[in-house]
Amino acid sequence: MREWDVIICGAGPAGAATALHLVRRAPTLAGRILILEKARHPRPKVCAGGLIPHVLDSLDELEVGLTVPHVMVDRARIEVPSRRVEVEGRRVCAIIRRAEFDASLAAAVRARGVAIHEDEKVLTLERTQDYVRITTARGEYRAALVVGADGSGSMVRRRLVAGDEDKRAIGRAVMADVPVEGACLWDGHRRARYDFDFRAVPSGLAGYAWMFPCLIREQPHVNVGVYARRAAEGPRLVPMLEALVREVGGANVRHEAAPIRGYAPTRFVAPRVVLVGDAAGVEPLMGEGISFAFEYGRWAADEIAMALARGEWALTGAEDRFRTSWVGKKLRRLSQAATMFYGPGAPVLLAAVARWPGVQNAGLRWYNGVDGWDRRSGWEVLWSAVRGAAVAREPLGMR
Ligand SMILES: Cc1cc2nc3c(=O)[nH]c(=O)nc-3n(C[C@H](O)[C@H](O)[C@H](O)COP(=O)(O)OP(=O)(O)OC[C@H]3O[C@@H](n4cnc5c(N)ncnc54)[C@H](O)[C@@H]3O)c2cc1C
Repeated sequence: MREWDVIICGAGPAGAATALHLVRRAPTLAGRILILEKARHPRPKVCAGGLIPHVLDSLDELEVGLTVPHVMVDRARIEVPSRRVEVEGRRVCAIIRRAEFDASLAAAVRARGVAIHEDEKVLTLERTQDYVRITTARGEYRAALVVGADGSGSMVRRRLVAGDEDKRAIGRAVMADVPVEGACLWDGHRRARYDFDFRAVPSGLAGYAWMFPCLIREQPHVNVGVYARRAAEGPRLVPMLEALVREVGGANVRHEAAPIRGYAPTRFVAPRVVLVGDAAGVEPLMGEGISFAFEYGRWAADEIAMALARGEWALTGAEDRFRTSWVGKKLRRLSQAATMFYGPGAPVLLAAVARWPGVQNAGLRWYNGVDGWDRRSGWEVLWSAVRGAAVAREPLGMR
């Protein structure tokens, strides 16, 4: 049996970000951290791969950079009932393929001296007074602290944090990749544009459809998908997706689905355990999780470094520090926005998005985290939306 200070379960963006932030703070920790990953990179991951500008800032901060093939998007098309608007910017989003992106993060983690055991699934977890015991098919490990970075269906969450909890916070998304060939009727690649379609909201869908330009083995494709905040809406998603595929001229393409755990007022810290990324919960308005994976990683690294220095394993106050941080507030606001946007406030909010350029610009800047916009208070953002014209002079995407 080997003993580690920290074992991270899962080598997706949240697990990788936690490890990268930890060794950035304390390089000597590198040899004392182990990541257990059930798959082998590059592993498939059902995801549209949109990186908002804040993710690129996080990659720069961690000195990782964006090294994988990507499509840079400069404008967004937003469709709401009876209206279509386009918001222009520069470098509003970078679209990657997750297999390549996650493998590049794992390589960066390894390059900093952190061990990743791939093809090694965590099978059991047990907390004792002095450590957490983990078993895999290959053996048994002990850790002073465990990070649950094992995604929406997190076993760490179920076994050590929340038990069998309410599943209403779990949403669902389906997607398909359609080659952009002669028959393709979609001009998003040519115009460096991605599309969001909220036209199904008034008929009760708590979600939206998207079309993203992407590259698969250097060939242009359009990634089409539908997201619903509640998994119970799942049966609606596939027929909607099939209609979208037909709309862009595709036929007989395989679709894939996966859950997305929304941020909810449930626990994500327990003695000797912190959850990060989808295991903890990401924003339920759009289902964007990669930027939050990086921010959870930063917070978890701070808390772990503090716990290791003090030998304080209860992680007292960690959850409150997250909830009151700017990122905790952003998640809370996005959860409230999702409740209003996909609920009784839908007609008013959809009309505001469609008609008011100030709302489009301020909303996108705040969402994208451009120039620290997401650290601004709600009132500041609202005021900026009202002063729409002034907002329009500020950058919308990356510099
Ligand atoms: C269809 C779809 C489209 C999406 N599009 C976007 C988008 O465009 N932009 C965006 O920001 N977000 C998007 N998301 C959300 C995004 O994919 C997630 O928020 C993100 O993957 C969370 O990262 P993570 O590291 O927390 O979890 P994951 O990426 O799920 O990584 C978890 C890792 O843990 C491993 N693991 C699981 N169980 C075990 C175990 N028992 N033992 C060991 N390892 C284990 C898994 O193999 C995996 O590698 C989308 C999601 C879906 C479903």
